[in-house]
Amino acid sequence: MIPFDYHRAEDVASAVALVSSNPEAAFLAGGTNLVDRMKLGVAQPTLLVDISRLPLDTVDVQEDGRVRIGTNVRNADLAANTVIRSRYPALSQALLAGASGQLRNLATTGGNLLQRTRCVYFQNPTTPCNKREPGTGCSALEGYTRYHAILGASEDCVATHPSDMAVALAALDAAVVVKGPAGERVLPVSDLHRLPGNEPQKDTVLDHGELITAVELPPAPARSAYRKVRDRASYAFALVSVAAALELDDDDTAVPVIRDVRIALGGVAHKPWRALQAEAVLRGAVATEANFRAAADAELLHAETLNGNGFKVPMVRNTLAAVLRDLTGTAGPDASAPGTDHPEGPAGPEDAGWEDVNS
Ligand SMILES: Cc1cc2nc3c(=O)[nH]c(=O)nc-3n(C[C@H](O)[C@H](O)[C@H](O)COP(=O)(O)OP(=O)(O)OC[C@H]3O[C@@H](n4cnc5c(N)ncnc54)[C@H](O)[C@@H]3O)c2cc1C
Ligand code: SF4
Repeated sequence: MIPFDYHRAEDVASAVALVSSNPEAAFLAGGTNLVDRMKLGVAQPTLLVDISRLPLDTVDVQEDGRVRIGTNVRNADLAANTVIRSRYPALSQALLAGASGQLRNLATTGGNLLQRTRCVYFQNPTTPCNKREPGTGCSALEGYTRYHAILGASEDCVATHPSDMAVALAALDAAVVVKGPAGERVLPVSDLHRLPGNEPQKDTVLDHGELITAVELPPAPARSAYRKVRDRASYAFALVSVAAALELDDDDTAVPVIRDVRIALGGVAHKPWRALQAEAVLRGAVATEANFRAAADAELLHAETLNGNGFKVPMVRNTLAAVLRDLTGTAGPDASAPGTDHPEGPAGPEDAGWEDVNS
């Protein structure tokens, strides 16, 4: 680790001023990602501005039903919050699926959103990586790709975004409140992260020195859930994850109709992936296995797999169907019924262009 200066911020304005005026400065929240990167030599800030004592650590329910989450709310506290648990189960489930108990006690809302990819080449300064060092190449393309993207990647970077919480927030239609030198702006969380294109070094649309001060949730959907598939039951990043938020037309009918739905996928792209094609298939459709599978197929039409991650295509299909079954209270697939089970899944068209629907 190289030497660095440390400053504990007293207020938001001075924190923003200090970081935005110094290209080598960084905000320090829980430190569970930034300090790791500093130890690895992947991040080398010369000034750390500690924001963890700023009074941005409450979860407030507004009169209109919106919920405002301060950026310093710890992941463990947010997961346990009674409003979040009862009204936004997808968010609570996503937080509890992320990292370990000890890490969640330190990790913050803002820091979780802005953690960087866990691509093994990004974390190893001895290997070429366009995200860490633009123009050096992408080691993953010919390397270990089990955790890498199948949607929205570019020839310059095939990394995935690691946050579970961000996937739930995308399905819940959350917004991010950002304070910069020029004032405050609010943007949908789906617009916060970006696809790699030919600038994979940029994870988000934030300018250097912009501080996330809060996340805002709209009034809660009727039903929501998050499911994560990973290599082991203890802490591990997602191979694939699905967050969904649903409104049904009539909960009492035998086969409900999906009035509205928002879906986000994790572990498949450089950002939490809003499954807009799947949503379009499902909106107004009856909640049947065939429609769940058709929705997944529509979303995966342009999936492009690498040598080590082809399994993600059927994994997304099966996980999405499972989440939708749970949320709609419908039965699982009848193995004897033709057309409802797709263990292999279609390969994405080999010559498909890079998908840009989420850009
Ligand atoms: C072993 C291990 C396993 C993990 N497993 C998972 C997992 O399964 N799922 C998952 O989602 N995460 C996982 N994580 C990641 C963990 O969740 C993140 O490290 C954590 O959420 C980051 O939060 P932090 O407050 O510690 O951020 P920090 O490390 O302090 O900051 C992260 C980045 O965000 C910037 N930043 C922080 N706050 C702000 C702000 N308010 N505004 C602007 N910039 C800001 C910092 O400058 C830094 O660049 C794992 C981590 C480890 C070490
Ligand atoms: S996938 Fe992205 S982060 Fe990983 S080596 Fe390639 S450029 Fe770097």
